[in-house]
Amino acid sequence: SPLQVCQRCTRTTPFTLALFSLGTGRRIQYVISKGGSEALLQALISAARTEPPDHSILLPLLRLLARVGQRDRKFGLKVQKAEATDVILSLTRQNLGHHLNLTHCLWVLRVCASNVTAGTTLGINGAMELLFKVITPYSKRHIRTVRAAIEALAALLKSKSNSRRAVNRGYLGGLLRLYQDWHQNDISNNYIYIRRGLLLCLKHITNIQLGRETFLGSRGMEILFTSVQDCLSCKNLDPIVTTVTQILRKCYPKEPLPVVSVRSSYSFPLPGNVKTEPPCVGFEDDYESDGEEEVEKDLDKGDDYDLETDVNKLRSRPVLDRPEEELGQYEAMCLELFHNFQSEEDKSLEDRTENLPSTPSHFIPSDNSVKHPNYRWRNQSITEAGPDPGEKNFKVPLQTWTKKEKCRRDIIDEERDGIETVQNTGSCEKENPAKSHVFTLRPLPKEDAWYKKIFNPECEASTDPSSGERLETSDIVTNLLEEHQENIPFHNPHFYVARAKCIKSIPAYKDLAFPDFWGHQPLPCGKPVLERQYGVQRDKILDDVRRLIQPCDVIGRTVYDLDEPSPGTPGCLTFFSKFESGNLRKAIQVREFEYDLIMNADVNSNQHHQWFYFEVRDMKLAVPYRFNIINCEKFNSQFNYGMQLVMYSVKEALLGRPHWLRAGHDICYYKNHYRCSAAAGGGMRGKYYYTLTFSIKFPHKDDVCYLAYHYPYTYSTMMAHLDSQEQNRNPKKVYWRKQTLCQTLGGNPCPLLTITAMPESKKSDDLEQFHNRPYVFLMARVHPGESNASWVMKGTLEFLVSSDPIADLLRKCFIFKIVPMLNPDGVINGNHRCSLSGDDLNRQWLKPNSQLHPTIYHTKGLLYYLRSIGRAPLVFCDYHGHSQKKNVFLYGCSIKETLWQAGCTVDTAVITEDVGYRTLPKILDKVAPAFVMNSCSFLVEKSRESTARVVVWQEMGVLRSYTMESTYCGCSHGLYKVKLLGRMKNRKGLQLGTQELEEMGSKFCLALLILHLKSLPCSKKVMDQAALLLDLDEEITDRAQRSVMLPSGFVIKDFSVAEMPL
Ligand SMILES: [Zn+2]
Repeated sequence: SPLQVCQRCTRTTPFTLALFSLGTGRRIQYVISKGGSEALLQALISAARTEPPDHSILLPLLRLLARVGQRDRKFGLKVQKAEATDVILSLTRQNLGHHLNLTHCLWVLRVCASNVTAGTTLGINGAMELLFKVITPYSKRHIRTVRAAIEALAALLKSKSNSRRAVNRGYLGGLLRLYQDWHQNDISNNYIYIRRGLLLCLKHITNIQLGRETFLGSRGMEILFTSVQDCLSCKNLDPIVTTVTQILRKCYPKEPLPVVSVRSSYSFPLPGNVKTEPPCVGFEDDYESDGEEEVEKDLDKGDDYDLETDVNKLRSRPVLDRPEEELGQYEAMCLELFHNFQSEEDKSLEDRTENLPSTPSHFIPSDNSVKHPNYRWRNQSITEAGPDPGEKNFKVPLQTWTKKEKCRRDIIDEERDGIETVQNTGSCEKENPAKSHVFTLRPLPKEDAWYKKIFNPECEASTDPSSGERLETSDIVTNLLEEHQENIPFHNPHFYVARAKCIKSIPAYKDLAFPDFWGHQPLPCGKPVLERQYGVQRDKILDDVRRLIQPCDVIGRTVYDLDEPSPGTPGCLTFFSKFESGNLRKAIQVREFEYDLIMNADVNSNQHHQWFYFEVRDMKLAVPYRFNIINCEKFNSQFNYGMQLVMYSVKEALLGRPHWLRAGHDICYYKNHYRCSAAAGGGMRGKYYYTLTFSIKFPHKDDVCYLAYHYPYTYSTMMAHLDSQEQNRNPKKVYWRKQTLCQTLGGNPCPLLTITAMPESKKSDDLEQFHNRPYVFLMARVHPGESNASWVMKGTLEFLVSSDPIADLLRKCFIFKIVPMLNPDGVINGNHRCSLSGDDLNRQWLKPNSQLHPTIYHTKGLLYYLRSIGRAPLVFCDYHGHSQKKNVFLYGCSIKETLWQAGCTVDTAVITEDVGYRTLPKILDKVAPAFVMNSCSFLVEKSRESTARVVVWQEMGVLRSYTMESTYCGCSHGLYKVKLLGRMKNRKGLQLGTQELEEMGSKFCLALLILHLKSLPCSKKVMDQAALLLDLDEEITDRAQRSVMLPSGFVIKDFSVAEMPL
């Protein structure tokens, strides 16, 4: 073979080399594996030593070396070993006047420098000085040579010591001037690669702090920013624009966030002097890596290292985390096990609805509203005087309700539970009269024409001066309220207000956000994920850089600040976020129609910013406003993949369209120039911040709009929904019990629901069936920012109490224990991740602290109790939201799959494992359009050992223990993946709306019924009934699919309900 020829005689003939050069990629790899690089280097050294050098050999050798070197990852190392760097350098030097030879030398130089050590050696020996002799200002001569020199220089500058040397010798300024020169003269864009090569040199040199400082000092920002403006419109110049953008981002001077402290504006004193400061991580001032590398690192890490591979640990069942005697208290939460439906007490349970308040028919305006022009409506608290005598028609329903409620509570069973009742509306007002006294709906822009038109259409045209007066009367409002609430099932604004008044929040909220009060009605169809516009991210980044280069139009005025409240500023948008679940810490007007927004950290924490929800008003019509949320923390986001935020317009709602809508365009998410210093942060996990930027054109002038990360679902919303559900159920069929699991740290009750079917009769057989139904345990919203989980839970609950025959059958099969909101305090105070203790509650399950994590402590206690009486649930599921992935899917637990995935050598055959955990997700894949089996995972990760899913699986022995993750964005599979008609290639997923999320919740129930029929012994009666219903259901499903309403222009493809043998 030619290779052997090489190794045998170092005087290789040109003929042999020519053979080599014909080699394909695979052949080159083969040559490398057989020591080809070393042989060629040896050949080069000996050829160079002959006097005079034989160029007929050297030239093809250099060409070969460049080719082989490009594919040999260890080439630089081999060059070092062969001590060939000097030879290559001196060859280059000798050939400065001979451009063909020189070019070949430069190619080899470039591949040598791909190894940092070899590059450093070359740098020390004067390689850069040499290259600078070759690189010329704009010229059409010797282009190939100049290009090779620039590329070799860029490779050399990957070494930090070379970069330092280059800066010290003033090469950075030289490179900038060269770039400017080529940019200005290369009018026809013939030499893009040369311009890009120069930019790559600058990109590498600015990886070091000294490089960035010198770049700034040499007006590099201005030079590149100005030059790139000419390139934006030409797609061919994308490589240039991209590289310039990367350099500008990297060199933009780093700043701390413009806040007094990154710590949350809200703090909460914890019981027992618990220290909540997270550990300090220093502020690294020298950013050696840039964004791309960081993302790669994050992706490379993979999940496998995190898998739990200790079989003993996987199979162990830890001991109780508390004294066994404590479990007795949870008997009171399982009264269904003891009911015999004979006594008075049980009767009262059956007749419960009769004791429930009738829906209050009017919203109560108080006379105060007239005196406070800023506040349109005001609630009458129980401590205030009676109803306004002038408004006889407005009874005081809430007050009546409260009294009735209290009364009822006194009579019936809840007090015996030994737990404070949830619905004790009266007492919360007594405790805190001041709070409820000022509690009010956010003011509406009643001076504006549109508002007057809606509320007083007859008067609009008239010039009657008293018309303004008449606007103050509440009957129009009340009438409208009556009219609209009908449209929103399970939403009752009166219930909402009554509930909202009772919450305990850290900022002591005084205002109600309009959407939560008024309600949200889902649109009949979802909206496809947003198509990303070409170049949107770089345009936004350049716009950010423009603040530095052209500061003339920068305003930089703080217009909203939780820390230093001030009256609104005229002539700009007005922001507000002090309401339940609200989160916006600060708003800074950057330019006329652009605002930087800062989210508040979780209470008692300095991180976890993701959830936002705020009000904005005083907008102009048809102006796109740009908003930048500048303290995001995750390194990527679904906002880069078509997700939109949501918006609610008060005017639209009053016009009969009360919808949270997906909104925003030009959305993207990228790393910005803000950094967290350890000094400012008091310790901080990550040091980077990211910007979520979006533009919005508001639908109306001077509207009041709300923007949020996702469809809000407050604690009061849930409580009011539970009130409606309780009221709407059929008490003859639905056994419903609402208790308080415990009080939260913040003093809010955490409800626990028990739902099942009433026994068929009082006969002992039926009572036995009632008592022996297996349990299903569901919970949601341990993470407050995951409001999607609440919408799924709402769907589950509404289905469970519904009169649907499948629900009826399902209730006869199971007893449902449901904690619909595990973290009320977090939800109320606008947290994203944590509770008031600053802890992620879904990392506390191994050893929850009864003081700091009461909801987890008691949920686990209740599960322990069920296990102790041999009634551990058949299915456990914790509803979550997933911000990085599409679709809805389950995480479960399997020892075998974990060990297999980790590539463990443990003989998995010895571990017998019931694969029953796979049944439910398989069923869901068939019945729930948003659910995707392929997205599910059944691995047990070390980092998840203290989550509900893993602890319930391990400690309670629940085989079917799941986390259900719902996307914030949309679907990449299944029914909700649609395509635009006539644009076949452009298949897009629908972004999920609340309707699709609720549907997921109800389909989960259907799947539970099918699971029951497949996995558990059933009576013939149940089977017959089920067979009938599920046939029927398949028909319904089919029909529903045919009639799924999609925006015109959309069709559904590839979805059919697969055969589901029972
Ligand atoms: Zn979560």
